[in-house]
Amino acid sequence: MDRVRVLCRVRPTTTEEQARGERVVAIQGNQRLRLQNAAEYVGEHEASWAFDAAYDTDASQAQVYESIQPITQDVLRGFHATVFAYGQTGAGKTHSMFGPPDCSLDGPDAGVVPRLLKDLFAGLTAGDEVRVSCLELYDDLRDLLNEEHRPLKLRENRKDGSVVVDGAVDAVVKDVPATLALLERALVRRVVASHEMNADSSRSHFVASFRVTRPSINASAIMRLVDLAGSERVAKTKATGGTLNEAKRINSSLSALGNVIAALTSSTATHVPYRDSKLTRLLQSSLGGNAKTALLVCVSASSLHAEETVSTLRFGVRAKQVR
Ligand code: ADP
Ligand code: MG
Repeated sequence: MDRVRVLCRVRPTTTEEQARGERVVAIQGNQRLRLQNAAEYVGEHEASWAFDAAYDTDASQAQVYESIQPITQDVLRGFHATVFAYGQTGAGKTHSMFGPPDCSLDGPDAGVVPRLLKDLFAGLTAGDEVRVSCLELYDDLRDLLNEEHRPLKLRENRKDGSVVVDGAVDAVVKDVPATLALLERALVRRVVASHEMNADSSRSHFVASFRVTRPSINASAIMRLVDLAGSERVAKTKATGGTLNEAKRINSSLSALGNVIAALTSSTATHVPYRDSKLTRLLQSSLGGNAKTALLVCVSASSLHAEETVSTLRFGVRAKQVR
């Protein structure tokens, strides 16, 4: 498996999208995505993008999961692994990662995260341990497993240079139902917290980390599952040349992630700017080295979102070049 596998999923169009726009995204074969009348929306000839897999609007949660499933084997063998969902607000990130709103994480429509956890636990043997932490990164880093909503600090571990989150709950979980129950509480808290802070939850990143320790084979690894903030502000800033004021409004962590990926794909860059944001610091061990990564880019099929779609697809294609 390549270092970064990039999968693309097209969300079904809503009735509003059908009334106001037309469908412009088509899947060709099972790996390529084509934008119809592309020149109209992006003013250039770029019209087709290839990924490791491309899923049309009728793909099931189980089909999308098939491409991501190998991650559990990597983690069980001791490789760090991360699954990211990227895309504009409403493009299907949370649906793909967790499932439809109010759906049980244990139901038939459950997303990638509960499926990964089931396979992960199925591969464990006696004596193995799983610890979970759930963080939300907005402007501050917050612990979704703790009622008390105080900001957390990131710190460098002097011994091995890894990044530690001071004071975050790191709960031992024994089985799949207990883990899903914990995640469900964290997801509810994510929404509640954004209301309390009068914030926009589409601007927050959700990072669940599962630290797997396997004494029997002397292996340990972290599996990170990341539902990223909506990418639309990043696209808008780039489209207008990115003045300072606009840059303040966009999600700086998401731009920093793009810059880290750009540096990791560049043949000339000598410095990877992990330290530029809390998100990239937190994910450093998941992005560099031997870590395995799956990136699910989510897009709408509608002409109304064509520009955002192009920007999302470009991000995905870029990430595919990380080795
Ligand atoms: P995001 O997290 O990217 O902002 P959501 O996952 O919340 O977007 O999706 C927006 C809406 O579209 C939700 O109501 C979600 O259930 C629905 N949706 C997204 N993807 C799909 C899909 N593949 N099939 C059916 N409904 C979907
Ligand atoms: Mg979401």
